[in-house]
Amino acid sequence: MSRFIQIVEVGPRDGLQNEKLSLPVEDRLALIRRLEAAGARRIEVVSFVNPNRVPQMAGAEEIMAALGPDPDRSRIGLVLNLRGWERCVAAACDEANVVVCATDGFGLANQGATAAQQVDTLAAIVERQAVEGGPPITMTLSVAFGCPFDGEVSEDQVVAIVREAAALGVPEIAIADTIGVADPWTVRKRIEAVRAAAPDARLRMHFHDTRNTGLANAYASVEAGIDVLDASVGGLGGCPFAPNATGNIGTEDLVYMLERAGFETGYDLDALIGIGRDISEKLGKAPASSLARAGGFPA
Ligand code: ZN
Repeated sequence: MSRFIQIVEVGPRDGLQNEKLSLPVEDRLALIRRLEAAGARRIEVVSFVNPNRVPQMAGAEEIMAALGPDPDRSRIGLVLNLRGWERCVAAACDEANVVVCATDGFGLANQGATAAQQVDTLAAIVERQAVEGGPPITMTLSVAFGCPFDGEVSEDQVVAIVREAAALGVPEIAIADTIGVADPWTVRKRIEAVRAAAPDARLRMHFHDTRNTGLANAYASVEAGIDVLDASVGGLGGCPFAPNATGNIGTEDLVYMLERAGFETGYDLDALIGIGRDISEKLGKAPASSLARAGGFPA
């Protein structure tokens, strides 16, 4: 078994965005560079949100300029609207990850737009890219398993939005458990439903470990045939709707689980463990990932 599972590192964006402490640009750059040296090929490095609203993500342009182009890596920018898309193009990101929320409650609270309005924005971005050029567009569908405002999110809700993204020709669609409420059996069912709705799109899964189901959900995804997963070094991040909650599934935990079973990820586990420990120390907290606490095996 040497199937390759691609892990998209989201620590510098989803992780740090949800940490209380804002790290300066140079610390975030150092983190990105260490992660790339440890094997990250696709990495969400910045978010083109308003820095007044999300101070942890200030300096996106500076970070992209300092990184410079690298043909072997894909630096992803998070985009919520047309303004974000324009900034993402200007900053020369390799990919734009456009967020659409599955519910109106979350969309209005976070982006001031209903789910339908966000799909319209996605369509407008796809159209701009077709006319003016720009990086490849992926979509992340957030709160796809549950919403802190609207409660349960049905498979039908998810599938309806996925169908629209597929009709727009979005080549990669991520299904995100933003608040960490999914279970592995629902994950499998939802993957099957989404795959039927978007047979030509590559599916990526994004899990938060808020309630300790993150790795089980990753396992269910791989068993269901998924070969792209998001993860965050050190299990960075949190959940703004669950105080004291842990963040994304830890990259080192996911790499350990997969490589122990014989999958390939392209990451250096020991390097990741070191990065997870160091960044947690910098943030003044204990690492959330199990591997940062326990180390790998065999030593
Ligand atoms: Zn997330």
